[in-house]
Amino acid sequence: MDVIVIGGGIVGVATAYQLRAAGHRVCVVERHATVAQGATYGHGGAMLPTPLDVWFGPTFMQSRRAPKSGIVFKPGFNSGARRFMRRLDQLQAPDAFREHCLRLKPLIDASREAIADIENRFKLEFEQQSGVLHVVRHQREWEQLQSALDLLREFEMQHHVLTPAECAAVEHSVPTEPEFAGGVLFETERTANCPLFAKLVKQVLDENGGVEFKFGRSVTAIRVDNQRAAVELAPREGESAHSREVDVIAADAIVVAAGAGSLPLIQRLGLDLPLHPLRLHALTAPIAYEERAPHLAVVDAIKRITMSRMNQRLRIAGGAVMQGVRESTKPLAEPLTKAALTLLGQATHDWIPGAAKISAALAWEGVKLLSPDGLPVVGQALHPRLFVNFGHGPAGWGLACGSAKVVADLVSGNAPSMPPDTLAALRPDRFAS
Ligand SMILES: Cc1cc2nc3c(=O)[nH]c(=O)nc-3n(C[C@H](O)[C@H](O)[C@H](O)COP(=O)(O)OP(=O)(O)OC[C@H]3O[C@@H](n4cnc5c(N)ncnc54)[C@H](O)[C@@H]3O)c2cc1C
Repeated sequence: MDVIVIGGGIVGVATAYQLRAAGHRVCVVERHATVAQGATYGHGGAMLPTPLDVWFGPTFMQSRRAPKSGIVFKPGFNSGARRFMRRLDQLQAPDAFREHCLRLKPLIDASREAIADIENRFKLEFEQQSGVLHVVRHQREWEQLQSALDLLREFEMQHHVLTPAECAAVEHSVPTEPEFAGGVLFETERTANCPLFAKLVKQVLDENGGVEFKFGRSVTAIRVDNQRAAVELAPREGESAHSREVDVIAADAIVVAAGAGSLPLIQRLGLDLPLHPLRLHALTAPIAYEERAPHLAVVDAIKRITMSRMNQRLRIAGGAVMQGVRESTKPLAEPLTKAALTLLGQATHDWIPGAAKISAALAWEGVKLLSPDGLPVVGQALHPRLFVNFGHGPAGWGLACGSAKVVADLVSGNAPSMPPDTLAALRPDRFAS
């Protein structure tokens, strides 16, 4: 079949890879000049999510105050943003959290397998590094973490629960003063460079043929009928919208994998999903003192701030800003940017002092979509020729490689090898009721 993938972020690239592996001819349409220029660009480095990383559950945004939660919450009078948070809050109950993590796990396992397969097959080097240490400041937060620790045991995920002294012993950059509650070490979980991975996979696809990348083209509309599917393209930069006919590319099926750009495309087809855009920040800083630089990735488990080393730099990512949907399409007001970057700088100062030269850091921000149940939206939508793969939230990389396989199976007419309740929990129609 001929399949159009809209979006050249990690999700679009992974989807193109799996579709090609399933024997389809693929055209990726991306409005930027190359892949990985959207949310994928600022990726914090964490590869696969654990129950400690997901953006729902007992430790996520217990407080609406940024210094405690790590999230700048500024919905203004926007009731949609408040409603969204209330739905997400329902997953703070340990039972609801467990149930959701159980549904998500098969997707994480499929992603782990898909990443390993790509890595081994093409011997890719993308700054992989083993070892992630999650740290928790206060005793009360440590108690809230217990249901996630129970799940790690239930899932038999290799991990070590550490005292502060043990944390400092495994990761010399973490200070034992001021006091903190403890940490969780994942020796085998990895961090790496996601945009580099996306570029390498694109290179593999270029070399092997069967996948065309159309860069600098923006999809304005999707058409689907019983005979064919097609996308309409905006005029290229410099071309007048009136001077020519609309460019249309036709195919047998379309996959919408356009990150935050997915919502307007499917809204025009009549599908309104309750996903919320969340702005995230990243700082890329030179190492200040080599002897203080961390060997492991250090994650502030409550504030969801990841500090990972990538060669001679440190990538500090997190600092989410939660606003109304309309505000998130406009440039962020300076005080909010400052508040978000302050959170990143503070986390660096607290957990790996002296490691990063924050004054020389490059700041970046991107938007990712979060669903009110924390799970991505993956599957067929509205029409047999239309598929979606977006809303991966904070775990875009890890989940993308598994969800791409699910989509490739569905496009091919095969049943994905995943439990039915996981597939049902990912489907776009799950919000209808
Ligand atoms: C600062 C930051 C840190 C993060 N840290 C982590 C982490 O540590 N671990 C993790 O797993 N995840 C992390 N994430 C989340 C992860 O980066 C995202 O979930 C993931 O990159 C989403 O990939 P995507 O392909 O869906 O979106 P994107 O990378 O945004 O790609 C979507 C692409 O679609 C294109 N597009 C949109 N609309 C159109 C259109 N109409 N026509 C043509 N092209 C279109 C865009 O230009 C874009 O390139 C982080 C995100 C941010 C912002």
